[in-house]
Parts: sequence; C-alpha cells; structure tokens
Amino acid sequence: MSALDIVGDDLKTELPSGETVRFTHLDYAASAPCAQAAAQAVAELLPRYGSVHRGTGVRSQTSTVAYEVARDVVAEFVGARPGDQVIFTRNTTDALNLLARALPAGTTTIQFDGEHHANLLPWPNVLRLPTPASPAAAVADLRAALGRVDGPAVLTVTGASNVTGELWPVRELADVAHAHGVRVIVDAAQLAPHRGVSLAALGADYLAFSGHKLYAPFGAGVLAGRADWLDAAEPYLYGGGASAAVGARPGELTWADGPARHEGGTPNLLGAAAVAAVCAALLIADRDALHRHEQALLERLRAGLRTVPQAREVSIFGPDHPRVGIVSLHLPGHDPAQVAHRLGREHGVGVRAGQFCAHPLVRRLTGTDRVEACGRTGLLRASFGLGSTIEDIDRFVSALSTVLG
Ligand code: PMP
Repeated sequence: MSALDIVGDDLKTELPSGETVRFTHLDYAASAPCAQAAAQAVAELLPRYGSVHRGTGVRSQTSTVAYEVARDVVAEFVGARPGDQVIFTRNTTDALNLLARALPAGTTTIQFDGEHHANLLPWPNVLRLPTPASPAAAVADLRAALGRVDGPAVLTVTGASNVTGELWPVRELADVAHAHGVRVIVDAAQLAPHRGVSLAALGADYLAFSGHKLYAPFGAGVLAGRADWLDAAEPYLYGGGASAAVGARPGELTWADGPARHEGGTPNLLGAAAVAAVCAALLIADRDALHRHEQALLERLRAGLRTVPQAREVSIFGPDHPRVGIVSLHLPGHDPAQVAHRLGREHGVGVRAGQFCAHPLVRRLTGTDRVEACGRTGLLRASFGLGSTIEDIDRFVSALSTVLG
C-alpha cells in the first residue's frame, strides 16, 4: 500500500437482492476515508503515546516531539511564512470560531452568502454580500463593498464550495482586499483535499481546514496564519496549556504565548499526527497527476449525467469554471433525501442529500426562497477524491438513472 491509498477501499455492502457489492463512497466532501499515511501514523503512536508538553518520561517526550513535528509538517503544507502560526483545532468550524474571537475589536467581516455555515455564522459585524454569478463579479462586488466599509475589516471566503465544487478566485479577491489593508481568511475545508494551499500563493492571511476531509480520522483541524492578532487575543479556551503562570487571586495570571495560547487542554496528538502524515504524503505526491485523475472523473460524471435528464447540475460560476470533485444536482419533482436513501440501500452508493450547511446558497440554487421549504427540496451531492474510480462514477450514474425512473 502506498501512503495515499485508501484504507478500507474494498468495503462491501449487501443489497436487498442478497447480492454483495463493493460500497461506492461518493461523499468525500462530508468526510473522506482514511489514507494509509494517517492510519500508519496513528498505529505507530498507539503503543507509545503519553501526555504532550506535560511529562518527563519517554512516552511524554516522544509525544511532545511527535506533536511539534506534526506542527512543522503542517506549516510546510500551508506554506507558512516566517512568523506565521499553526494551531491545531478540532476541525474547520473550531478554527474559524477561534479566529473570529481573535479579530481586533470593531472589525467588520465581509463575506459572500454562499459560504458554509462554519464560515457564515461565527463572525462579528458582518457585511454579507449576495453570491454573484461569476468570479469576475465577485471581485467587482468586493471592490464596491470595500468602498462602503468604514474602519478595519477582514474578508472571509471559501477556497472551494462544498455545494458546487467551484473554486473561488481567492488570489484576485485577496489582491483587492490587501490593496485596502483588509486581511483575508480562507475556509480551505474543501480546497485542501484537492489543491495546494500555500498561504503565500493564495494571498491568504489565514487558512483553516479539517483533518477528516483530508483523509485523516476525526478530531483534528488546523488554523494557520498571521501571529499578531492571535498573540494579542484572549485564549480560545481558558485552562491548562493556555496559561503560563497563575496566581492565588482570581485574574492573577499570564497567558501562554504562541500556539499554546489557543490550544487549552491536553492536545489531540493522534489527530495532529494523522493530519500531518497526510500533509507530508501530499507534499511529495504528484499533485498534477491527482488533479488530472479528478478532472477525468468529473468529466465522466458530467457526461454521464447528461444521459439522466431528470438531474440538473447546479452552479453559480457557470459550467466551465474550474472545480474540485464535488457535484450537486437539482432533481425537480424528486425528494433528494429519498433518492439518496435508495441509492444507498438498493445500489450500495453513498452520497449526501440536503442543504449541506449552506442554506442561503442552496435556497438560491433551488429557487426556494422560504426557509422551511428548503428541507424538502435541497440537492443531491456526489463528491470524490483519492481512491475514487471511473467505475464508482459509472455505478452512481447508472443507479441514479434507475432510481429516478
Ligand atoms: N467549510 C466547508 C466549505 C465545509 O465543506 C465544511 C464541512 N462540510 C466546513 C467548513 C466545516 O467543517 P467541519 O465540520 O469539519 O468543521
């Protein structure tokens, strides 16, 4: 097995007919399966782990070193600049909430309404812009919005949409934002599994992603970026690790500096090591080849879907815009939850149905304005990545045709 092979790729499922088939996993955007690199990192640490940063024995020392090495590897993965900080969090939601609390007081947060709720909801003083029809319009809309903002502001934007799979023009948006002295935060939850995420190349000041979407198990995520606001902020969690010195009287204390300030409590060593192992494997992988494979799967899927007239692919930026392996379908006249259920039970194909924690965008794409009506409409999403095959795509298309009748 190589480092980026998927563990459990041969998982079987039994159909109502009694036939046993290989499970077709097309829900990577929710949680990707585990890569061999992550499994191996966890297996190596299981017999020897101890408390991180908190002990003198060999277990503790090994664990402290492993944890800090993991941080260094992630720093390389995100192309951290000198002085940037890498903080281990639970996931992207946790990372963005942490950063939202570290913004200097009075900062306006500029965002588009197509964001995942994890990047829509945590922020203070929001200026929310409607998601435009094209990348060029997004840049123009940002420029216009910046002219209306008084005082300090940040832009927070997704790198790749978890609904449409479209890549956002982060670099262009960042150039405009920076020209106005505005920092840029990138929600890279769906970008990191599919593309390089260099802070410098993206023009991002901060970047957040989740291990469980990057072929590592659950429980670890990353926030990386400029240290000054993070160092000046109150710790995200009060407690051990975040505190350097605590006096006898309440309030008599000094908070820790550096990443420890925002990593209160005992760290998740296995999670951090698993994420870092995948990052290390991706750093030396032929990402162009992975990218070409993904584009071939996308083309196969979109060609296949043309033979299923009841399923309409949705997009904001138009069909030719570059995208990652995430495709959402509108199924007028069908309940997407029912369709997803039947795909799983009758065909052994796992996809996701609903609004994908991006309600404003899905409402727009389905033409459903009423909040309560969206639950019954929603979309059907197929998403894929490492380990996905042409056969997976063909099985999905064929099963979908059968289910839609
Ligand atoms: N942002 C995007 C674009 C996502 O797709 C997701 C997960 N669906 C998140 C943020 C939140 O990730 P997590 O649930 O791991 O915190």
